[in-house]
Amino acid sequence: MQKETTINWVTTIFLILTPIVGIAGTIWLASDRGIPYQTWLLFLFMMFSTGVGITAGYHRLFSHRAYKASFPVRIFFLLFGGAAFQSSVLEWSSDHRIHHRYVDKEEDPYAITKGFWFAHILWLFKKREYTLQNIPDLKEDKWIVLQHEYYLPISIFMCFFFPGLIAWTWGDFAGGVLVAGFLRLSINHHFTFFINSLCHFKGSQPFSDKHTAKDNWFLALFTYGEGYHNFHHEFQADYRNGIRFFDYDPSKWLIKAFELLGLAWDLKRIPDEQIFRKRVQMDEKRIRQKWENRSVSLPEEWESGLETRKRSLLELQSEWTAQKESRDKTKNKELESKFRSELKSWKRLISGDGTSMVS
Ligand SMILES: [Zn+2]
Ligand SMILES: [Zn+2]
Repeated sequence: MQKETTINWVTTIFLILTPIVGIAGTIWLASDRGIPYQTWLLFLFMMFSTGVGITAGYHRLFSHRAYKASFPVRIFFLLFGGAAFQSSVLEWSSDHRIHHRYVDKEEDPYAITKGFWFAHILWLFKKREYTLQNIPDLKEDKWIVLQHEYYLPISIFMCFFFPGLIAWTWGDFAGGVLVAGFLRLSINHHFTFFINSLCHFKGSQPFSDKHTAKDNWFLALFTYGEGYHNFHHEFQADYRNGIRFFDYDPSKWLIKAFELLGLAWDLKRIPDEQIFRKRVQMDEKRIRQKWENRSVSLPEEWESGLETRKRSLLELQSEWTAQKESRDKTKNKELESKFRSELKSWKRLISGDGTSMVS
């Protein structure tokens, strides 16, 4: 009797062959006749548009509904997200919503708890049944449904023939297909797979340690800003992943640019106060753990001291946030400096082992 296989051979072979074709094809073209600079520019354009097609489109727009977008933007994401060959919006979003709901548990489709390589790529090698029950909102959008029905022809065209035809205008059809198609696809695949593997593996957890998601600025450089994954798992409704203005998050900047152009609206932002509170709670949890590791019971003055410091920090932060709206610059400055100095001493406390609270 033949043993039943659960391997999805089509995906497995595709994911193994595409990098081989991309790398070998690029080397062959480069050594045979050189690759024109226009083809490399097209490669970069395709990298970015298919990358954000997944992050700003499939992820933040369709899966999390973190903002609303106009018809041309949605079509752009359906086409270029499709060119990233990561399945249709319906399947991708269904998986992703399950990932958030059951993160690290058995049901999580790419649970890091099943191993680094499983979360990175091996989960895709397994044959899976899609019920698509958790995406009723997306099923109502006829264009999303159309993309699902014609996923294969759309993706094949957008991934390989579209760059091929563009590059054909400067006489480099093969370069368009092999460099801006195959090579770009494989690199982008692994860049976005990093979000499921490395972003649940290495980095800091400023907002929560109840799950494995990590913040990692270095990974943000390769994941179109999705490296701030600890924040994202805590506040999935927010259209941003990197919340500070200097955090490298091109997906956030693109969405903001769409808003300025009138192409996107209703951008969801978790209030600063709520984010800050979560951060302080996590700090408190850490300092308590450090003290508990010393295996001595907490002195009363420590408990009350910590509570007072925390309360005053949170109060100052909310006072300052409320004051920001007003035009009273002197009062603003005064509250800001009070808050900053309180924050500084809080950070000092957190970075130590907490003994300063009783000494
Ligand atoms: Zn995740
Ligand atoms: Zn997400």
